[in-house]
Amino acid sequence: MSTIKTSNLTKRFGELTAVDGVDLDVAAGEVLCLLGPSGCGKTTTLRMIAGLETTTEGDVYIAGKRVNDLSPAERDISMVFQFYALYPNLSVAENLAFPLHAEDMSASEIDARVVDVAGKLALDEVLHRMPSHLAEGEKQRVAVARAIVRDPNCFLFDEPLSRLDVELRMAMRGQIKEILAGLSKATAIVTHDQLEALTMADRIAVMRDGRIEQIASPHDIFAHPRNVFVAGFIGTPQMNLMQGRLLQQNGRSSFSFAGQDVSLDLGDTSKTLQQGETYTVGIRPRGLAPLSEAAPGSLAATVDLVEPMGAETLLHLRADDQDIRVVLDRHQIVREGETLHLGLAKDKLHLFGQNGDRIEL
Ligand code: ATP
Repeated sequence: MSTIKTSNLTKRFGELTAVDGVDLDVAAGEVLCLLGPSGCGKTTTLRMIAGLETTTEGDVYIAGKRVNDLSPAERDISMVFQFYALYPNLSVAENLAFPLHAEDMSASEIDARVVDVAGKLALDEVLHRMPSHLAEGEKQRVAVARAIVRDPNCFLFDEPLSRLDVELRMAMRGQIKEILAGLSKATAIVTHDQLEALTMADRIAVMRDGRIEQIASPHDIFAHPRNVFVAGFIGTPQMNLMQGRLLQQNGRSSFSFAGQDVSLDLGDTSKTLQQGETYTVGIRPRGLAPLSEAAPGSLAATVDLVEPMGAETLLHLRADDQDIRVVLDRHQIVREGETLHLGLAKDKLHLFGQNGDRIEL
């Protein structure tokens, strides 16, 4: 069974703990994306799984077997790197056949496998070309094809699309996801591109400072971020995260934000909150609705900047020292200097305690 598992995976480089007790479990047929800011330990985690980096502590299991002491080749993994290297003196067909020569296969079996994988990645037309005569997107597809031409235990991808331009990336994301869906292999993909993770992953592991902050489906990561870090990291434009003091609770909760009293419906959760305590209220820029006029408890903010984004407009507003982002349909005309009264609807709110952890509403 194709699976990847790590237990307390840890890597220290001298004083620096690059990966700190990471537990992962990737099922057969599942795509897990490791996502996080630069330097959070994604690549080091992947390299330890591959056997390209030793572990300081913890274990790696591939297909149910502990592989800490096995070489990369013995782990039987296919990898695709950001800087994929094709053999320049071999044609596309020969590049694809190369990993199969080490296996006990006849020439006709190898040919059949190459034709099959070339078909999956739309490379039929370029099988006889040399790599130097390929477009960048074709080279990338050859790299992916070469990884899947064998029948390895699992797949590891490290920023596989980062060298492609935006349009090619979008097309390749879909293609790779479709191909992986048909292979029943455990796959781990490292990326710092959240759109790549949200579109390709069955589950996303968000990392920070060597640790996993949350592992969940793209939907859950977006809809129920476990803490302030994940809430601010996932979603474009970034979620508004406003620190406010809870003033009073009588049915609706009243918060002091940016010098204003704003009333929020927190339902029964409000009973568990402490008056006078500071909480972080999160609301995505598409979740803030400008009201036609000031309503009791709405949040007043002044438009600093109007940024057209095509179908939508991004507004940068300010309330006291708090920056607020709002995304509106482009037909809603708003001018710089205007004051908007923002309503905070309960179903759009995220609430976090002082330690940054989510409080479910
Ligand atoms: P990026 O997206 O920028 O590649 P990453 O999340 O993949 O970042 P890693 O490359 O895993 O992060 O690096 C994690 C930390 O470990 C970083 O602070 C990095 O500088 C450090 N690091 C990585 N490799 C080594 C090494 N061989 N020696 C010392 N420090 C290292």
